Amino acid sequence: MGKGLTSASLATNLQARGFKVKLRKLDPYLNIDPGTMNPNQHGEVFVTNDGAETDLDLGHYERFTGVNATKNDNITAGSVYQNVIKNERKGKYLGNTVQVIPHVTDEIKFRIFNDLKKIDFLIVEVGGTVGDIESLPFLEAIRQLSNEMLKNQTIFIHLTLVPYLKAADELKTKPTQHSVKELRGIGIQPDLLICRCEKRISKKDKEKIALFCNISSKNIIQALDVKSIYDLPLVLNKEHLDERVLFNLGVTKYKKADLKNWEKISLLQKNPKNFVNIGIIGKYIQLKDAYKSLTEALHHSGIYNSTEIKINWISAESSKTMKSSFKNLNGILVPGGFGKRGILGKINSIKFAREHNIPFLGICFGMQLAVIEYAKNVLNIKNASSSEFNNKNAENIIGLMTEWIKDGRNVKRSIHTDYGGSMRLGSYKCVLDKNSLIYKIYGKNSIDERHRHRYEMNVKYEALLNKNGMIISGKSPDKILPEVIEIPKHSWYLGVQFHPELSSQPLKPHPIFNSFLRASLKHKKNI
Ligand code: GLN
Repeated sequence: MGKGLTSASLATNLQARGFKVKLRKLDPYLNIDPGTMNPNQHGEVFVTNDGAETDLDLGHYERFTGVNATKNDNITAGSVYQNVIKNERKGKYLGNTVQVIPHVTDEIKFRIFNDLKKIDFLIVEVGGTVGDIESLPFLEAIRQLSNEMLKNQTIFIHLTLVPYLKAADELKTKPTQHSVKELRGIGIQPDLLICRCEKRISKKDKEKIALFCNISSKNIIQALDVKSIYDLPLVLNKEHLDERVLFNLGVTKYKKADLKNWEKISLLQKNPKNFVNIGIIGKYIQLKDAYKSLTEALHHSGIYNSTEIKINWISAESSKTMKSSFKNLNGILVPGGFGKRGILGKINSIKFAREHNIPFLGICFGMQLAVIEYAKNVLNIKNASSSEFNNKNAENIIGLMTEWIKDGRNVKRSIHTDYGGSMRLGSYKCVLDKNSLIYKIYGKNSIDERHRHRYEMNVKYEALLNKNGMIISGKSPDKILPEVIEIPKHSWYLGVQFHPELSSQPLKPHPIFNSFLRASLKHKKNI
């Protein structure tokens, strides 16, 4: 439906008026975090600087507002219940029967306000759909909150769908009426409605919704489908969303919204001068959300370089069709991933990029497989592998690091560690070699990037790789963990253990993607 993008766009509008805004997401599922979920089901896992595995909406929040999210900004039912049960075991409820109301709802309310720095507005997005069993405690908690706070301190914004029936050439307001009725049944009267629609909502329809939903028609905002999500801040501003929010909160003093940056982006995306084909070889290509930050990062550098990027999704598992799909590619990208399935397809595409001098970017798993490909086909270590694949008699170039250091703390990992939340997560420093492509890209030798991986390249292969044309051009400050690999003789070949896509923003495209895109443009000119 677009709750995440709408929340993020509202935040940008309030920022454009000079306010400080923070966004938080309540997720009703029972997982502690989405870290162990299949990306095909739930979309990508967004990793914050402080190492939390969170919902992909937090990625939208960061990209739109430029404000880094933290582990406290994603509140899942799983983590709420986990805390309540922990407290119960500790005897903290002093013999009381532990119940959804008040114990679970209290925990939710506590978490909503926990660790908030100075802000003017907090936008709390409730995941799921009104009527879901799971979201009830969350809706009840926000109902209580608004009751406990001053009248002008909170408002409820409800996003609904106003479908268009082609055969009848008519917009239908009934689903909106029903979901508002459902909400009111649990004690929440929305102050504002944002109606997602593909056709304009007439004044008459707005009045009808207003009447049935007990909302002033001025507070009914239409959210027409947009071509690009980065048009949303402008589109919603035109519909006066932020003004209505401020009015309902009794805020009368505010400046005119300065949306120049968004206007610039909107203009740039409409008139690209160039065009490139980038191939992404992945396993979760059925659901585009599984690679959300990645496609956004490519799009950001596309905007910045006035280039339209056509993404060719290539299934890592259907190697037969692959050769033909490689033909028109100007750049090949192998993104992060997990597990054995599809590795052959990925390795083959890396080999193709390497042998045909096509710009190649390998991210995390993509970097690990690039090293394995090189070891197999150039160093002639035919059984080169990663311990992730559990192959007997394999030579594991990529393996499990049993310990590393973060914040002066030793974190031990072994095959017996829990699967969830046990990776090298979040922002870590990486030191770059001066004489390298990666150094040229960043223009400095110390960088911080976000990580999410369990396995590491074994640094003992460095000399052998080096002798044969592949270099390690970035390492952890203690020099134990390889972070970047390159082939200096190749036109543009880069593997990074971290995830640059997580920190790319439309107003601040990531230098790696900019460089990759320029190399791909150059490749296109040369063929
Ligand atoms: N599966 C690999 C690991 O755990 C890579 C992870 C990733 O690509 N995010 O190290």
